[in-house]
Amino acid sequence: MHKIRFKRLKFLHSVKIRIFLIVFIVGLVPGAITRYAIVKNYEQRAVELRIYNVQTQLKILANHLIAYRYLQDTSSDVIDAELRMLSNLYDGRVLIINNNLKVVRDTYGISEGKTIISEEVIRCLKGENTSNYDSQNGYIEMTIPIMETLETEDMGKGASESNRANGVMLTSISTDYISATMEILNRKAIVVETVAALFVFIISMLASYVIIRPFEKITDALSSVKEGYTNDPISVTDCIETERIGDAFNQVLSRMKVMDDSRQEFVSNVSHELKTPITSIKVLADSLRGQEDVPVELYREFMEDIAQEIDREDKIINDLLALIKMDRTSSDLNISTVDVNVLVELIMKRLRPIAVKKKVELVYESIRPVSAEVDEVKITLVITNLIENAIKYNKEYGWVKVTLDADHQFFTVEVADSGIGIPEESIEHIYERFYRVDKSHSREIDGTGLGLAITRSAILMHRGSIKVVSTEGEGTTFTVKIPLTYITI
Ligand code: ADP
Repeated sequence: MHKIRFKRLKFLHSVKIRIFLIVFIVGLVPGAITRYAIVKNYEQRAVELRIYNVQTQLKILANHLIAYRYLQDTSSDVIDAELRMLSNLYDGRVLIINNNLKVVRDTYGISEGKTIISEEVIRCLKGENTSNYDSQNGYIEMTIPIMETLETEDMGKGASESNRANGVMLTSISTDYISATMEILNRKAIVVETVAALFVFIISMLASYVIIRPFEKITDALSSVKEGYTNDPISVTDCIETERIGDAFNQVLSRMKVMDDSRQEFVSNVSHELKTPITSIKVLADSLRGQEDVPVELYREFMEDIAQEIDREDKIINDLLALIKMDRTSSDLNISTVDVNVLVELIMKRLRPIAVKKKVELVYESIRPVSAEVDEVKITLVITNLIENAIKYNKEYGWVKVTLDADHQFFTVEVADSGIGIPEESIEHIYERFYRVDKSHSREIDGTGLGLAITRSAILMHRGSIKVVSTEGEGTTFTVKIPLTYITI
């Protein structure tokens, strides 16, 4: 039900309309409230004044009534004239009631002789003035006691009896004049309000336009970036907010550009790397085909070369698949508690034959037992890659030292070698995909340039870090730091 109602008010989704409505309402409501307050205040004051005036007149008349003993004898012309004058003056009716609640005089002449029992009359007989304003029917009703204070005092009666009135003057006067003035006031105020509404309307339109315009501009600028990052940077300097939106968008654009550049570079690298072995195979095969009576030895030699190129192609494809797997989210990790000492020992055992072949000594030092929550396959890949590189890029009779240590939060695997080292300018590039330090030199050493990229991705998936220190000609040390417990975010 809520949704249906909101759908119907879809225009309220527009900030422009919202600003317009807010300014319009804020502009108009105070005016309407002020008008209501002024008219109500006038009404209250006018009624109070009227009650005061009439009561004063009635008090004077009450004294005359006493003087003329009107309650006992209603034949006084003077009083009648005064009563008529009063009712004409205030457009009302006056009833004189004695202490038996009997009407002795009614200026309308219809209730004389009747008995009136009303709360106000009874209260008034006890000496209290009452007044009651009926705004709906447009009259004020009030009562005034007719007192013979002096006489009762002379008779030495009790206080309560001396306060008791001899009679009551019940008056009702019309408030048409107050209503008419209120009507005029209201009409005038409405005219002023209408003019104000027109002004407020124009101001609201302007405000919503002025506030929204920069945002419309930036929307236009964003929509015009059809080709994305090839366009100029976005700049809408109309206000700080749009400037910030522009800056943020430009940042996103440049980040996308970097990503796109790296994607393009990766694709071209992949095609190049995949093509190289195939080109070699083609050249080898063609040269065999082009010759007649090729000796068997040459055939064998060429076939071995072709097999080597196929192995290389296979390695590149496998590395690429491994890399793509690493690019997925961390949720793909298969976390289990692993004894890292056992794991490193196993890896070193597997790699020992390669080290022996390269005449490199492999040393392992474990400072303490380490058990960690990791993806065993991926961490195996990390340690294998680092040790493999340390053997590959080593010198004859060199050494590789692997050290495993841990504190209460992380475990560290340090792979140090006495190899050829990495030139300073290359250090920042070694984790890039397909990067190899010296391509011509590296060609002799088997590799795809993907190993460290895969290694780094696997480490980052574990929220760990990798650091390298290297001196050309002396050796390299890689230090990997991984949390002992896997942190899920
Ligand atoms: P590759 O398949 O070429 O070994 P990697 O990504 O594993 O690719 O390494 C990138 C480059 O970093 C290597 O080509 C090599 O030049 C350099 N490199 C990596 N490890 C070492 C090391 N321990 N000593 C010297 N150079 C290294």
